[in-house]
Amino acid sequence: VIPDLRKDPTRGRWVLVRPRTDGIPLTDQCPFCPGNEALTPPEIVAYRKDGSPPDTPGWSVRVIPEADPYFRIERPLVREGVGLYDRLSPRGATELILESPAHEDTAARLGEARWEEVLWMYGERIRDLKRDVNIRDLLITRRHRAPGARISHPYSRLTAIPIIFDEVRRKLRECREYYEYKRRCVYCDIIRQEIAAEERLIRQTERFVVLSPYAPQSPSEVWIVPRQHHCAFEEGLSGEAASELAALLAGYFRTLAGRLGDPYFEMTLYTAPNLAAKVLPGEWSTIADDYHWHIEVVPEFHPRARMGGIYVNETPPEEAARQLREAWRSS
Ligand SMILES: [Zn+2]
Ligand SMILES: [Zn+2]
Repeated sequence: VIPDLRKDPTRGRWVLVRPRTDGIPLTDQCPFCPGNEALTPPEIVAYRKDGSPPDTPGWSVRVIPEADPYFRIERPLVREGVGLYDRLSPRGATELILESPAHEDTAARLGEARWEEVLWMYGERIRDLKRDVNIRDLLITRRHRAPGARISHPYSRLTAIPIIFDEVRRKLRECREYYEYKRRCVYCDIIRQEIAAEERLIRQTERFVVLSPYAPQSPSEVWIVPRQHHCAFEEGLSGEAASELAALLAGYFRTLAGRLGDPYFEMTLYTAPNLAAKVLPGEWSTIADDYHWHIEVVPEFHPRARMGGIYVNETPPEEAARQLREAWRSS
């Protein structure tokens, strides 16, 4: 069976149809630990302190292709109609960014200096993949204590695909509509209003705000948004911004792991799609002004309830923000 991306024309959503595989056979050795580099596919890039050769120990952050990826760069991009349906070959990339050589590290234990390196690596990989005009969109996700995870070594995942992620497409549309109507970026407006209102503001630094969104899908959902407008993470990241963001992530994850009981969470970094990709004329003509890169973290204390796509949230975000503000201050 050849895997493919299929679009449901009634929902307007894409589904990846692929046979189940077992992934890399696991031994009692962690394939992501230093010394076991031969157990992973060859590395794409790594930060190395002493000029040590690729695929040997001596790295601090190491990027490898996922062994059994959903999306592959070697595949040709095939776009075709099957009767009334659309299908696409899953051309793209799935990369794992190993965040530390230390197996026991977690998002909370990585610390500021290591988070800063990881952020630079995110930027470097996004810039590199955006040179490929068949890649339209990229997301970086990072889970902690994921149910069913087979490897506990700390890593982030970068997924690059030939279409816009469904969730991102919806955001891009909303941001553009807001901009068409008001000539302002909705995220910039949110930042201004939340700083003034304070009740959902968790933390504010010179370059970032951390806040509970007005209508969170899950209790304790948190957004980290740069205060200076930029649509693309990899272009908007300066040295000062990287160290400030690293300190915020380290502090927030320490608070989650400590005073808030170490819940499962998923972090997603949203950056602008690949503007070099072939698109319809005018499709993204205002994206530099209407979209704003950001990070979302969704901790799961309880399973999420929803019906017909509407989420039910039993903790008001004003209350969640107050708790997190206090926990962060005293942790
Ligand atoms: Zn390990
Ligand atoms: Zn903005």
